[in-house]
Amino acid sequence: MEERDLKQFEPKLKQLREEILKVIAGEDDDSGARYLMDEIDQAQNVIEQAMGSLMSSSQRANLAKVEEALERIKKNSYGICEECGEEIPMKRLEALPFAQYCISCQQKLEEEY
Ligand SMILES: [Zn+2]
Repeated sequence: MEERDLKQFEPKLKQLREEILKVIAGEDDDSGARYLMDEIDQAQNVIEQAMGSLMSSSQRANLAKVEEALERIKKNSYGICEECGEEIPMKRLEALPFAQYCISCQQKLEEEY
């Protein structure tokens, strides 16, 4: 099996968790939202991409996904599709560090809705 450096995603996920917590804390506070925008400007590209996809759905649900992803890193099951058990491509994890499924399973699951 190809050696994959999955540990690199741990600091990214932790940073993402911080950003989400700030969004949740700032939901009822305009100055908090402005502060967050500055934070996003300074954040790494991958975080910006992930935050972009985060904005479309519930922050608390996303926080849970990030927490789960951090748990999976601890249990060495990170980066494995929960549906088919295949490795999730690194490119997908870089764009969406808390991805639970590979692209084909994600599409299949979305079609079921
Ligand atoms: Zn899959």
